[in-house]
Amino acid sequence: MSDENSIELKAINKTYKKGGKNDSNQVVVHNNFNLKIAAGEFVALMGPSGLGKSTLLHLIGGLDKPTFGEVWVAGERIDQLSESKLTRWRADTVGFIFQSHHLLPVLTAQANIELPLALTPLNKSQRKQHAQTALKLVNMSERANHLPKELSGGQEQRVAIARAIVSDPKILLCDEPTGNLDRKTADEILALLAKLNKDFGKTIIMVTHDQKAAQYASRVIDLEHYINSAACLGKQTPEDHAEHNNIAQDKSEQGSDSNTPKEGVTA
Ligand code: ADP
Ligand code: MG
Repeated sequence: MSDENSIELKAINKTYKKGGKNDSNQVVVHNNFNLKIAAGEFVALMGPSGLGKSTLLHLIGGLDKPTFGEVWVAGERIDQLSESKLTRWRADTVGFIFQSHHLLPVLTAQANIELPLALTPLNKSQRKQHAQTALKLVNMSERANHLPKELSGGQEQRVAIARAIVSDPKILLCDEPTGNLDRKTADEILALLAKLNKDFGKTIIMVTHDQKAAQYASRVIDLEHYINSAACLGKQTPEDHAEHNNIAQDKSEQGSDSNTPKEGVTA
């Protein structure tokens, strides 16, 4: 796991101002928040609502900037990039998967997946080819020409995952991706994410309330406990940091497409 592709939040402060400059209207969501995620990890970020989990994903994905502090992704400090550079950076580097799939209802699965490629130099037939590869990966080739309303919830989420991976980003940021799904479908989606992590080397950070997610992720961060830890406050070595967060003893034990619980992965 080279440092070069790691994700690092350094001494982050994120303060939202609500309606004016008055201090009492400020919400400090994170203060002196430090976190390092190595390339190739599959991190499940858990904890109660309102704790700032989505905020962390937005900072890592360049959708928002910290009030203070630094966001480093793959050797680049992204919180200082201009909006236009950041748009380009996002298109190349990160794929987002949300609780709601946000597919455009008037477009087929295939056309939805091709959309993010509109910003790239790929021509029409190349875009089609990439979308077909992504569809195949999520096991949805036979539904390429279906509209979202003709798909089940799990199938829609598969298409959303295909759209997130179509430009081959290194990082997938998932915000409660199984929140709307029944148990069986949620397991299928978690197994698919684990496969993208294991077989395709995607670094995955997934916000979730799903206790079963721990069986698929290589590290579980319980944000409520992490937030006051020495690691979070930047007072520990990376090794201590890893231990604190229950990094899997042996990541190679992870199964990618089985739903069986794995040893060495703790909640
Ligand atoms: P979580 O995902 O853990 O539920 P969030 O990151 O969405 O938490 O939000 C953390 C806190 O920040 C909440 O108190 C929320 O109200 C506040 N917050 C989030 N986004 C904004 C915003 N754009 N403006 C003001 N406050 C916000
Ligand atoms: Mg959230």
